[in-house]
Amino acid sequence: MSEIAESLSQARQAKGEVRAGGTDYMDRLRHGTARGEIVDISRIPGLGKIEKQGNAWKIGAMVTIDQVANHPEIQKNYPGLAMSAGALATPQIRNAASIGGSLLQRNRCWYFRHEEFSCFKKGGNSCPAREGNHQFGVCFDLGPCVFPHPSTLGLALMAYGAKVEIFEKGSRDLGQLYGDGSDPAHDHQLKEGEILTSILLPDPLPSEKAAYFRNISRARAEWPLVEVIVRYRLVDGKISNASIGLGGVANVPMLLPKVAEFLNGKTPGDEIFKEAGKLGTEGANPLPQTQYKVEMVAGTIYETLRRAQEGIWGGEG
Ligand SMILES: Cc1cc2nc3c(=O)[nH]c(=O)nc-3n(C[C@H](O)[C@H](O)[C@H](O)COP(=O)(O)OP(=O)(O)OC[C@H]3O[C@@H](n4cnc5c(N)ncnc54)[C@H](O)[C@@H]3O)c2cc1C
Repeated sequence: MSEIAESLSQARQAKGEVRAGGTDYMDRLRHGTARGEIVDISRIPGLGKIEKQGNAWKIGAMVTIDQVANHPEIQKNYPGLAMSAGALATPQIRNAASIGGSLLQRNRCWYFRHEEFSCFKKGGNSCPAREGNHQFGVCFDLGPCVFPHPSTLGLALMAYGAKVEIFEKGSRDLGQLYGDGSDPAHDHQLKEGEILTSILLPDPLPSEKAAYFRNISRARAEWPLVEVIVRYRLVDGKISNASIGLGGVANVPMLLPKVAEFLNGKTPGDEIFKEAGKLGTEGANPLPQTQYKVEMVAGTIYETLRRAQEGIWGGEG
């Protein structure tokens, strides 16, 4: 057995919560909502590489968000991913946090993070946010938990059709990792003791246009209210291979295949982008305090498409 496999095997057998960069785990520890043993995977060799595999790329689970944002080949081949990584959290967090941890971070709901409250995610049988304060909650109500999934990179990687590799379990689509939102007890479908080792990106599209944009209640250091990633190619002046993801609005990251289908074959322009924005709100069923997000979804889709078209690099709203 190789040194890496041996270390991973020991980590898998150890009892406790995996700790990678620790930025999410330590916050929950401080708030009394993480307890018990930890299994530190940050020193396991071989998890910190970005490698080419044919034309595709593999990113190790311990690669930091900052490395994803600034890697020249990621910027060139997967620009929407690099932009979304560069726009999230703060420089300090991006330097410490791993891409694996960013996909598997726990929900930001204030009831979940408060030790005095019980909820589905802490073994309870109710969602206090549904009856209580859910002003930052979902506007696509897919299941019993009404707080949005927190992972920006989960959203971006879904739009890129990425897969995750799990130690000794093979690879899974991100859609499978997150499920359909009907399971209120978990933020992802990884079982206890399973370790995510890498992310596999498919071959890049030649000369794609992409943008990531978030609406946020302060300039930075906050999770977005609504976030969108868009990527497509222009072939003879028409959009093709469109992919669009919407976050901050449901308890799992969402892809919008109907909007992508609408965009394919169209000439990019303001009216088309506005229509795409409206179409993106189809199926929204907001909570009493989240009606405002529906309008924001339409505007954020429009703005992200505009930015992709104009080649604007960035992402903070
Ligand atoms: C102010 C602020 C703003 C933020 N804004 C955003 C934002 O806009 N978008 C966003 O996505 N995030 C945001 N974050 C969250 C940040 O991205 C996460 O805290 C970070 O990505 C977690 O990575 P980590 O390596 O520190 O994970 P850890 O804290 O080490 O782990 C997080 C969870 O993942 C599990 N885990 C980690 N790695 C593995 C693995 N390889 N295999 C199995 N389980 C694993 C751990 O057991 C734990 O449950 C923000 C954070 C802060 C503090």
